Amino acid sequence: MKPIKVLLTGAAGRMGQEIVELAKSDSQIQIVLKVDRPGKGDFASLPSSGARPADVVVDFSAPEFLRDILNWCLQTKTPIVSGTTGLIDTDYELLKKVSHTVPVLWSANMSMGIALVAQLLKSFGAVADEFTFQIEEVHHHRKVDAPSGTALYLQRELEAAVDKTVSPPLSIRGGGVFGIHKIWVMGEEETITIEHTALNRRVFARGALRAAQWLATQSPGLYTVNDALGFHGAKN
Ligand code: NAD
Repeated sequence: MKPIKVLLTGAAGRMGQEIVELAKSDSQIQIVLKVDRPGKGDFASLPSSGARPADVVVDFSAPEFLRDILNWCLQTKTPIVSGTTGLIDTDYELLKKVSHTVPVLWSANMSMGIALVAQLLKSFGAVADEFTFQIEEVHHHRKVDAPSGTALYLQRELEAAVDKTVSPPLSIRGGGVFGIHKIWVMGEEETITIEHTALNRRVFARGALRAAQWLATQSPGLYTVNDALGFHGAKN
């Protein structure tokens, strides 16, 4: 099978570097362009126009840049996988608009484990009245957004499952933590905790590249990592 050609945005960043490293050992992925801020090493800007240079964009950058990238994807008809978090309502609208023309996959967390946790949350609907719920998240101190995009996603899934409002997620920042998400389920006589720990950034990079391979053959539409994993009916 021919490798898919990837244009990587946010390539100089922590996730970008992880993806570059992972792609080196994956014969199915060819990074054809590394895009980041002008003047940052040998990274390029988004190509101005012309032929589509890649099969798919993989993006881990920042919300302001993602807006430009999405418009560029629209112009060049390039599918995009994005894991950039800290988005606002108009960004979600832009994702949707672009997805009418090209396949778009956005997820706050590209790991398979978080997709599985979201599935588990559905089972709490049956006992919603007997328990109190609280989500807690821990990340490294350089993380820009709080609560994390993953915590907000799990919060939406949990509230949908238990059909009630849950207190907003608690955020802790410190050290080099890649990402811990914990769901507290508290009853009068028993508690349950579900905890997911990302042991490295590679788990997100691997998920994003797997999603990119899947997305390259899809029709226009707005997808999540759950779709790429075959977990239908769950939105991440
Ligand atoms: P980072 O700050 O290390 O990297 C971001 C990169 O984007 C930087 O190199 C920066 O120069 C570049 N960038 C930002 N604005 C730009 C612009 N206008 N033009 C060109 N380049 C620009 O951040 P990171 O830790 O790699 O994370 C990136 C994003 O991915 C964050 O939003 C983070 O929350 C998210 N993230 C998502 C997942 C997931 O699984 N979905 C996992 C980890 C991180």
